[in-house]
Amino acid sequence: MTELLDRRLRTLQQYVRAEAPALRTAAQETDAHPDGSTLYPQVPLLDRLATLQIPRPYAPDPLILDGEQYYLLSAMERVVFHEEAAAHGDASLLLCAPGSLTAGMLVASLGDEAQQRNFFTPLQSSPTWTFLAMTEPQGGSDATTLRTTLEPSPDGDGYLLTGTKRFIGNAHRARTGVVTVRTAPGPLGIRCAIVDTSAPGFTASPLATLGMRGALGALTFDQVHIPAENLLGSHLPPTRRGMWGWLHSFNLLRCVAAAMAVGLARATHDYLADHIPPARLAPLAARIHRVQALTHAAARAVDADPTTAHLPAAAKTAAATLAEDITTQALSLLGTGARLEHPLLDKWTRDAHGFDPMEGTAHIQALTIFPSLNR
Ligand SMILES: Cc1cc2nc3c(=O)[nH]c(=O)nc-3n(C[C@H](O)[C@H](O)[C@H](O)COP(=O)(O)OP(=O)(O)OC[C@H]3O[C@@H](n4cnc5c(N)ncnc54)[C@H](O)[C@@H]3O)c2cc1C
Repeated sequence: MTELLDRRLRTLQQYVRAEAPALRTAAQETDAHPDGSTLYPQVPLLDRLATLQIPRPYAPDPLILDGEQYYLLSAMERVVFHEEAAAHGDASLLLCAPGSLTAGMLVASLGDEAQQRNFFTPLQSSPTWTFLAMTEPQGGSDATTLRTTLEPSPDGDGYLLTGTKRFIGNAHRARTGVVTVRTAPGPLGIRCAIVDTSAPGFTASPLATLGMRGALGALTFDQVHIPAENLLGSHLPPTRRGMWGWLHSFNLLRCVAAAMAVGLARATHDYLADHIPPARLAPLAARIHRVQALTHAAARAVDADPTTAHLPAAAKTAAATLAEDITTQALSLLGTGARLEHPLLDKWTRDAHGFDPMEGTAHIQALTIFPSLNR
């Protein structure tokens, strides 16, 4: 049940498929003991991911398969990797992976040469976790209402960061991260800064969640000192220093979130295939195939034009709904007591509900999709 991929992507897919089962075992351990996972069990596939998704000048160690190099920078490579890892491993533990992940996208699009070098180079030496902190306790959908502030330090040395963030992937295990901040009123006053988690005034704690356990944390910044050189985007025109960078990153991130949701749906289908006659699963398989095709189309569109927004939004919405629907149907097909008798399915059903808020709820995706219908 996979879209037609070219030889290069099929090679990547086969590599991930072979490595992914270890991810599933570790994910079940993390689900059972989320608080013990400050540094979670070592999984070779995640360690490999730690040095990928990094711009080529700072990535001396690409994945090499059949003589071909993979940096996992294109949307299509990321989608194939994450879908296959979720389908044969686990989606939730992918969110706990070390490496540049979402923070790296912001640094790549908003950072100058020195900022990129300082951020990406240490990620090569040992598995290092990072975060991108945007969401705040009062709301995440409207990023323009953020309250975290970055103000000039009274002693003239850099800035002071003050505020709180929540639902932040890897917050509690990261060594560094990117924080969205307000430096002045209005949309141009929203900027991004790199924060070192060892700085005084920085506090992180894990968040207890029903699904995607072990992935999310909360952050508090109490006058954390931010060196001037950690404010991203100062070399760019004023309109491109803040939101512009992350709006483009979202197009790619939504493809990846969709891919993980499709992978979770595939995993559920394959699990059911061991218990339910294939004919009863045919409609589910057909739906998964359609959403997978939409996700791949979205990734190809983003690779052709990174400003493409409506297809990633549509794919993320369809895939999140698919993951929720198929896991719920799976429990009902397996009958009373299914949650107790099939703990993996119980986990996936809880995890599936994490996809709607991730990278923006369906309501927020609709605000992106509808304007494109008038074109
Ligand atoms: C697994 C997971 C990983 C995440 N990782 C990160 C991360 O790494 N970094 C990070 O910063 N955040 C992360 N988040 C947070 C996520 O981005 C937010 O949950 C999301 O943006 C929604 O914000 P909120 O939960 O505060 O809901 P709110 O913004 O408070 O929204 C509440 C409800 O109101 C609706 N709503 C809000 N505004 C509108 C509108 N204009 N029109 C119609 N309806 C609207 C929403 O759809 C939602 O149903 C993660 C979340 C999950 C579940």
